[in-house]
Amino acid sequence: MLYDLHSHSSASDGILSPAALVSRASANNVSVLALTDHDTVAGIHEARAQAERENLQLIAGIEFSSQWQGRSIHIVGLDIDPDSAALQGAVAQQAAVRTRRAERIAAKLERLGFAGALAAAQGFAGDAVIGRPHFARFLVEAGHVKNTEQAFKKYLGAGKAGDIKQDWPDFEQVIAWIHQAGGLAVLAHPCKYKMTRSKLCAMVQAFADLGGDALEVVSGPQSPNQTRDMLGIAVKFGLKVSCGSDFHQPGQVWQELGKFASLPEDVDGIWQNFRANRIGVL
Ligand SMILES: [Zn+2]
Ligand SMILES: [Zn+2]
Repeated sequence: MLYDLHSHSSASDGILSPAALVSRASANNVSVLALTDHDTVAGIHEARAQAERENLQLIAGIEFSSQWQGRSIHIVGLDIDPDSAALQGAVAQQAAVRTRRAERIAAKLERLGFAGALAAAQGFAGDAVIGRPHFARFLVEAGHVKNTEQAFKKYLGAGKAGDIKQDWPDFEQVIAWIHQAGGLAVLAHPCKYKMTRSKLCAMVQAFADLGGDALEVVSGPQSPNQTRDMLGIAVKFGLKVSCGSDFHQPGQVWQELGKFASLPEDVDGIWQNFRANRIGVL
């Protein structure tokens, strides 16, 4: 069984539609795929319908933005009920965080003399979640800067006026949302944060103490050493093991569906706790 428990579709910042994502996973021999779009479950129903046609098991998931000690950290929710009141409420709250941030960026830009930033950025975002790239496009198209790079360099990048920190919920809140929605909470891609080992361990411990369920021991291709190291940390803090590609788009060999470092056969996989497994479907 090949489990890819972290992937993105066009419902967030992925390129493929949910249905196309499922087909690609199936072609890559993935037997169980979790769709884990950023702070949204809008793609789940389409993905599930396609998974039934492709004879692939689809796990409903989400990747929540959270924070720990002032840093933005991602927590994946697996096997959630996307239609539950808890999950829908969480999605609405995350959208509100992003909207508040967009309003603050717009206010800063207005103060610099760039009127109409919010309406324009919202127009560019359409149904998608509004973010700094949409403000960059506004600055370019209104002729305030030459290109996107300059927009970030002068106004939106780190340390500039439009660099507003997002006020994400803490681990406790996000884990509670996931559990209330019937799901399992996974600390995503721990190596991506480039923390010192002691800081990483402190973060994993905090996550475990608050009831987190698993650590994403494998995220894409990585060295056997790194896998062994992350496995050790998962065991140390009593967490189960998860793995996934964090796929966003075709053509990136380091993030391809079903293609990631392998795990030893006897690991304590989070998939053992999936509902379908408990009732013997998987
Ligand atoms: Zn992430
Ligand atoms: Zn991701």
